[in-house]
Amino acid sequence: LEPKEEFEHNSLAVDVMRPRRADPSLAVLTQDGMTVGEVEALVESTDYSGFPVVVSAESQRLVGFVLRRDLLISIDNARKRQEGVVSASQVVFTDHAPSLPADAPPPLRLRGIVDLSPFTVTDHTPMDITVDIFRKLGLRQCLVTHNGRLLGIITKKDILKHMAQIANRDPDSILFN
Ligand code: ADP
Repeated sequence: LEPKEEFEHNSLAVDVMRPRRADPSLAVLTQDGMTVGEVEALVESTDYSGFPVVVSAESQRLVGFVLRRDLLISIDNARKRQEGVVSASQVVFTDHAPSLPADAPPPLRLRGIVDLSPFTVTDHTPMDITVDIFRKLGLRQCLVTHNGRLLGIITKKDILKHMAQIANRDPDSILFN
């Protein structure tokens, strides 16, 4: 393993992150304001392994990261076992309960499944550093920010693909084996 030889190209996080310019935008959850039905629709319309949670669509401030699997299991359990959880129930990832109208269904509180310290790099972080951190921390993905706003995501596979493009050889032989 020759860790850094692939990155003499000075790639930056912004060169590897998704979405690329032509892609649909990043699929994110807001920390409150979304309904169970909206969260389910978002999860079911994509096959991403996880979703960043942001303060609001306008701010794009990162709150955390939630795994698809945990979301689906929690919503499924809540629908089966938790009194009053319906498609119109609000999903909240905050640590305080939202103030809802008296006639609103009870909220579904999912703070517990959020990773509140997901690994992040800025868009201008060199990829050799990012790759090093992926290796050392055994990361599966990391988030990319610019001026505190969420910009994108880099998965381990994105890095492997990027390295394969650069090296034009079997990606699995380069980075993690
Ligand atoms: P993998 O890269 O291992 O297949 P995913 O299925 O989570 O992992 O991601 C597939 C692709 O979609 C990757 O290129 C990744 O950068 C991107 N991606 C992952 N999560 C999101 C998301 N929430 N919104 C938009 N793109 C995403």
